[in-house]
Amino acid sequence: MKNLLSITVLSLLVFCFETGPVHINAAFASPDPAEPSAVEGTSNEVEGDSGWTAGYMASVANPYATEAAAEILAQGGHAVDAAIAAHTVLGLVEPESSGLGGGGFMVVYQQDGQQVKFYDGRETAPAGASVDMFMQDGQEMGFFQAKESGKAVGVPGAVALYKLAHDAHGQLPWADVFQPAIRLATEGFVVPKKMANYLPMLSGVSLLAQFPGSAEYFYPDGEPLQAGDVLRNLEYAATLTRIAEEGPQAFYTGEIAASIAAAAQAEPNPGTLSTDDIASYQAVIRDAICADWRDLQICGATPPSSGAMQIMVANLYDELVSEDASQMEKIQAFVDAQRLAYADRDYYFGDPDRINVPVEQLIDPAYLSYRAANPIAPGDVPTHGDPATVFGTSSATLWRQDSTAEPAGTTHFSIVDNNGNAVSATMTVESIFGSARWVAGFVLNNQLTDFATEYDPELPEAANAVRPGARPRSSMSPTIVLDQNDELFMITGSPGGNSIPAYTAKTILGIVDWNLSVADAISFPNIVARGQSVRVETGTEPGTEVASFLKDAGYQVQESRGENSGLHVILVQDEMLEGGADPRRAGTVLSRAP
Ligand code: GLU
Repeated sequence: MKNLLSITVLSLLVFCFETGPVHINAAFASPDPAEPSAVEGTSNEVEGDSGWTAGYMASVANPYATEAAAEILAQGGHAVDAAIAAHTVLGLVEPESSGLGGGGFMVVYQQDGQQVKFYDGRETAPAGASVDMFMQDGQEMGFFQAKESGKAVGVPGAVALYKLAHDAHGQLPWADVFQPAIRLATEGFVVPKKMANYLPMLSGVSLLAQFPGSAEYFYPDGEPLQAGDVLRNLEYAATLTRIAEEGPQAFYTGEIAASIAAAAQAEPNPGTLSTDDIASYQAVIRDAICADWRDLQICGATPPSSGAMQIMVANLYDELVSEDASQMEKIQAFVDAQRLAYADRDYYFGDPDRINVPVEQLIDPAYLSYRAANPIAPGDVPTHGDPATVFGTSSATLWRQDSTAEPAGTTHFSIVDNNGNAVSATMTVESIFGSARWVAGFVLNNQLTDFATEYDPELPEAANAVRPGARPRSSMSPTIVLDQNDELFMITGSPGGNSIPAYTAKTILGIVDWNLSVADAISFPNIVARGQSVRVETGTEPGTEVASFLKDAGYQVQESRGENSGLHVILVQDEMLEGGADPRRAGTVLSRAP
């Protein structure tokens, strides 16, 4: 029984699944699976030297990963150091969502200089990718077939992203930030319910149960792992140790890179990803996009991310809502703002290194006023606007609407360090367990299915068409909100595929305009308005009231019981940190006052 010790540790399991929006100011729980114990507080060991008095906080989707972040923060690490520690642990305990085989976006607030930077570790298509690679006999490939194909695998960006962000911000040595994950992978961790729950349903249908490496790891002796089993991943520990000691070249060249290429080129539906594609990968530092909203500034990730939608939705909302609006009318304005913003996003966004994305025009107040002044009737399909109407020129005739689906398999975390630096990061392997192809202790992504997978030579190309070397468009929107003095106000973001912009915007409007606490804003029913229908989460109140109000107003409403958000939010107010973890997932918050 390789890698598996059949021990069930109930007490830790209970700790692992303590969910819900929480604000914990407690000692850390030990990640030792055999005997969880509190570690004494170290609150006075680290003093901020920046005038920052609020302490530190981490809100992450799994308790082990929150603890890893807190451990690094307690050593005086920068939020970026803690982010790498948290994410390498997530790659171990939440491999269905993100990991070394995937990519992501990290938005960093550097307190000294009050700058926001965006680190883009999005996967890239191989040189051999083609615009119609997801078509078969004139038809779009079935989603599951495409997801588990070698064609879906992009060059993983996470390790290059770590390095770029660490070089710019890291305070602890590079090798140190990998130690919590190496230790946990070596000593073992209790298999979380979230991971285990997927395994029986994937058995028999997914490559995960068949691919060399993943089959033995997730299905020891042919049976799916169970929640509560203690699992080691010595291959992952060895990979991380090499990255810690040798740097990213251990990943992007040599044995590991050769194994990534071989796994992507394996049957069924082999792709073309080569060692040259992997060796030439570059993570990119981009300017974050920041724009005023009321007396705040919303800062996020530029394309290929959809981060600009946070600016679009918040400002459209203000254009659409009346001063004396009831809560239900406010929600209607939120729905209409989303419908307009999604239609523009779906039409214009793609890889900014390949096409011109007119993002500055799309967030311009004059353009947003024009969009809001031309609302779309509740029952109609929203269509994109044309910036030429306001600015005289646009790329509106170039593209076609693209409604690519992005099923959820991602994670978001928010971190503030002891000096008031912050990270908002969303990391992903795309769908659950990515392509299910296993290499050196982790699964490879299926991120290339985020491109416009449908291709019709008779139609204009989509802005988000598959292009060799390009990055697929993403919905991931890690966001940092600043106040008028460029001080930190809020860190937010979520997984959830193309619902991410809606989930994330709900926390900004919920906290700022609907006067909700962080916990209540996270728990508030999710409302997603992309395309003709509006999805309303009706499991919690006021979901049912919202659904019937919108139906009465003429919207096509889909009631949904349970949404895939994983909002992890930190609010800074009155020199205090207020954090929340989405009760729809298993995350926790840890904090410490200085
Ligand atoms: N692959 C998606 C994107 O980049 C994210 C999927 C998810 O959130 O689960 O937008």
